Amino acid sequence: MIDLTWAIDPVYIATIFFFIVGLQRMSHPLTARSGIVWAGAAMLIATFVTFLTPNLTNFALMAIAIVIGGGFGYIAAKRVAMTDMPQMIALYNGMGGGAAAGISAVALLGTTNAATASLAVVGGLIGAISFAGSVIAFLKLQGLMRPRPITFTGQQFVNMAFLTLAIISGVLVVLQPSWIPLTVSIYLPLFFILSLGFGFLMTLPIGGADMPVVISMYNAFTGLAVALDGFSFATPNYAMVIAGIIVGAAGSLLTLNMARAMNRSISNVFFGAFGATEEKGIEIQGSMKSIDADDVAVMLAYANKVIIAPGYGMAVAQAQQKVKELTDLLESKGILVKFAIHPVAGRMPGHMNVLLAEAGVDYGHLFDRDEINPEFPSTDVVLVIGANDVVNPAAHRQGSPLFGMPILDVEQAINVIVLKRGQGKGFAGIENDLFYRDNTRMLYGDAQESAGKLVQALKKL
Ligand code: NDP
Repeated sequence: MIDLTWAIDPVYIATIFFFIVGLQRMSHPLTARSGIVWAGAAMLIATFVTFLTPNLTNFALMAIAIVIGGGFGYIAAKRVAMTDMPQMIALYNGMGGGAAAGISAVALLGTTNAATASLAVVGGLIGAISFAGSVIAFLKLQGLMRPRPITFTGQQFVNMAFLTLAIISGVLVVLQPSWIPLTVSIYLPLFFILSLGFGFLMTLPIGGADMPVVISMYNAFTGLAVALDGFSFATPNYAMVIAGIIVGAAGSLLTLNMARAMNRSISNVFFGAFGATEEKGIEIQGSMKSIDADDVAVMLAYANKVIIAPGYGMAVAQAQQKVKELTDLLESKGILVKFAIHPVAGRMPGHMNVLLAEAGVDYGHLFDRDEINPEFPSTDVVLVIGANDVVNPAAHRQGSPLFGMPILDVEQAINVIVLKRGQGKGFAGIENDLFYRDNTRMLYGDAQESAGKLVQALKKL
């Protein structure tokens, strides 16, 4: 048989180039889809070329694992609703972390070198934390576990005790004398049990609302664990090292950006138990005033400029197609329509961009918070579609859990119409006095139905 071992590293380097191009293309909505194809192709090539590694065994087992994992991933990705995407990412990321921990265990069983064993221990610790934390994130987001922060007295102390003991047992794994085989050592299972325990415990006090930030952080952890594992083989695996570092860096940047957009520090996300307590002593003046679709349609028909501020409720209602229809209809009447996109509207980064792009809304219609905020005072009607926290003026009130979060200043518009089902609060669980203001009217109902009614009413005018 021809020896193709020499081809492995050059092909890995080529796939790394593909990963970087893919990542670069993912940074803009217009090229993001092709970015996924570049990165996916790179992963496929890297997987196949790995089979050229000398002395590989268990081909049948690997093939079965790839078919089962690939088949499950394909079907799940086809079926998943856009609103369930965060928990699916949590699950997949957890699997990545678990796989990295598994590779560490195998590397530890096969090495007597203290340096590679140390790298495998650190990779195993981070991978196991990422796996356990991602499982909790999945359960909370899927509603299989109480989404509110779970806190108890002495929690930080217990967490630190688990982490310290995990590190100590990891050190003992590395220091294990070579005449006691690691397969019979108690330290290896103890190390993984404590690392998993720490991952579970450190995620319990984090509320469901913060989970997307946490998932992004665990994603960075998984990347780091994979990179360390890449070094723990007798011959380093460069594809794992560089792909892991890229994932680690991209995940860390995303985490920081998300935290910044919510005006929270990373330590506040992880240790602040956000959402465990509610804002007290706030009495909102005024009352919510409802309006029907026919009256909103008249208001829209006389407007020169309309801004649409979508949020999580648009995703829940899958209202994006109707919103696109409404946009086309308004534009056909000569009305200027723009979309105000808050960076953390919805439940994952770029959530609104993805939904609107899927519905065919042209990217040129979308404006970020800093671009659109100065325009609200000169806007006749703002349609708030299933958004709550990202338009909550409480963010300007000292003492509010949202204080300091940069919001869309929709309350400055001449008229504000809010499409939501009832009195439901937003993700942060606090009241929104925008709904009680004199220039705000509530169009109650599911956002898709309400947007449909607006289209019908406008057509009749
Ligand atoms: P919110 O979660 O604050 O509010 C959504 C609103 O939609 C609710 O008040 C709800 O009211 C309404 N709603 C739900 N279902 C429907 C429906 N079928 N039809 C109409 N309305 C509906 O959403 P925002 O987008 O304003 O804010 C996002 C929040 O998520 C922020 O707090 C952000 O920090 C947080 N977050 C976002 C992340 C991201 O990456 N995007 C990551 C982590 C957290 P009602 O029940 O009355 O209908």
